Amino acid sequence: MPVTPLPGQQPARGRADRNLLKRTLDKAGREEFLSPEEIAFLLSLRDPVEIGALMAAAREMRRRHFGDKVFLYGFVYFSTWCRNHCAFCLYRTGNAWGGRYRKSAAEIAEASRRLADSGVHLLDFTMGEDPFYHERDGGFGPLFLLIRKIKEETGLAIMVSWGVLPPEILERLPAAGADWYACYQETHSRELFSRLRPGQDYDRRLRSKEEARRAGLLLEEGVLSGAGESRQEFAASLDFMRRAGFQQVRVMNFIPQKGTPMAHWGAPDRTPEAQAIAVLRLTMPRRLIPASLDVYGLEGLPEKLHAGANVVTSLILPTSGLNGVASALDIAGGRRTVEAVRPVLRDAGLTAAGREDLSLWMNNAKREMGAAAA
Ligand code: SF4
Repeated sequence: MPVTPLPGQQPARGRADRNLLKRTLDKAGREEFLSPEEIAFLLSLRDPVEIGALMAAAREMRRRHFGDKVFLYGFVYFSTWCRNHCAFCLYRTGNAWGGRYRKSAAEIAEASRRLADSGVHLLDFTMGEDPFYHERDGGFGPLFLLIRKIKEETGLAIMVSWGVLPPEILERLPAAGADWYACYQETHSRELFSRLRPGQDYDRRLRSKEEARRAGLLLEEGVLSGAGESRQEFAASLDFMRRAGFQQVRVMNFIPQKGTPMAHWGAPDRTPEAQAIAVLRLTMPRRLIPASLDVYGLEGLPEKLHAGANVVTSLILPTSGLNGVASALDIAGGRRTVEAVRPVLRDAGLTAAGREDLSLWMNNAKREMGAAAA
């Protein structure tokens, strides 16, 4: 009599129960709620045929909700200074390998204009928790003025990723032109959080997102894959992100960085990252799910699109003097540009969305957020 494994349990030779897989994918296809155990089961797949079925279901889900359209985000990492000690991050304070820069307002504006001209739909302004802004009275004032000016000039959507922010700063961001607040927890296991982000307050970081939501900002949350989490912890994270209603959700593989406590860790396999993207798509069908060029560069993009991602992030123009958060891969060679990405989209049967498509999506998301808060 055949033995049916429990969800998450693998039978011999790495093949899962095909009936269970079909039932789970059918259930996801009907957009029914998958339990954390079912999420863990999908994450546990190792057989290429089964992973192929998962990816196909995820692509179909993307097609259902987004057609063939993909959004493109320009990345402006304007300060790599940071007061924190995150164990995975090249730019943790005191790391001599973390190349430091803090771009001037003119440099930020110029990089933004060039990105806008290149055809991106959104500008993501990112920094570490730079004391220059975070620890001076009125330190954020010049940034408010700058993003307001860039918003007026370009008309693009604006995301800010400036770390944990005080509520009074978050409240001022929408009037300054920001639409989105990104603040990655990286894990929703408190114990792992304390190892990945030593000295930081788990609840304070989560609260910052709730305060941003109250201020009217759309939210991006993210988790690292391959940074010491168990499969159950990872599944619980995806479940948390679904329940918390973040409008954009990202999974990104951990990359070992020089000079950090995790420098000696092995780089995780690539397939589980794409597999996790597919599970995000199946469990959160209508949300925005990024494929970051920061990990594996342009060469890694097809597998993430194949898994159902519908946003290409971390587009950085060569000669802008800007880095990615995890790598500078492909920047100097001009392979993190709209021009370089378009053929990859075409090969995947996808196309760059129009600007109005993102505006429409964001307006709907803001309306839903307002209705949920009422
Ligand atoms: S992950 Fe962000 S907060 Fe942590 S050290 Fe790096 S830049 Fe700073």
